[in-house]
Amino acid sequence: MKFADLGLSDELLSAVADAGYDEPTPIQAQAIPPVLMMKDIIGIAQTGTGKTASFVLPMIDVLAHGRSRARMPRSLILEPTRELAAQVAENFEKYGKNHNLSMALLIGGVSMGDQVKALEKGVDVLIATPGRLMDLFERGRILMSGCELLVIDEADRMLDMGFIPDIEEICSKLPATRQTMLFSATMPPPIKKLSDQFLTSPKYIEV
Ligand code: AMP
Repeated sequence: MKFADLGLSDELLSAVADAGYDEPTPIQAQAIPPVLMMKDIIGIAQTGTGKTASFVLPMIDVLAHGRSRARMPRSLILEPTRELAAQVAENFEKYGKNHNLSMALLIGGVSMGDQVKALEKGVDVLIATPGRLMDLFERGRILMSGCELLVIDEADRMLDMGFIPDIEEICSKLPATRQTMLFSATMPPPIKKLSDQFLTSPKYIEV
């Protein structure tokens, strides 16, 4: 399998070549085509399998070809920790360098003022931890009714950290017609329940 066979745009293939990747990892080969076809997916994959690129790469293509709705975030990536959120943001910058997509990182431990300013300018991609996102919702600083794409990453760690009620509430604030991707290393019953509730006919991928 080659990256060129997955349906990614030339700009992304060039970013992948610059990153020095020869071929897609198994999660990338299986996840990228359905995500580009706007399908929901469940990816059972550990960190280190290349799972970040398996959602960031096709998301960039989907966002680059869609229509922007003024000032409302078009996509949301939920991460359990600040560190993971920051890593995903770095990946977005690396793979998205040939695209003009705006991004905001909403994590705890940094000033909310700058985050609110970024939101007011309008962003394509929000990368957030559930706690800070809920804080901004509760202060009326964020509207998610234009969000077409949701990624719930490391769902089993979210469960361990007690974030499932927050995630349920966040999902209920997003439009019902959206594309959702859920990644988890394992599939315990509460995560199965979450995916039954918030994903639509997902393609199940296990690597
Ligand atoms: P992740 O599982 O997303 O944390 O990625 C683990 C590491 O694999 C990261 O350092 C990536 O830069 C690297 N990586 C991702 N995709 C590929 C690929 N197709 N070939 C080689 N390395 C990759």
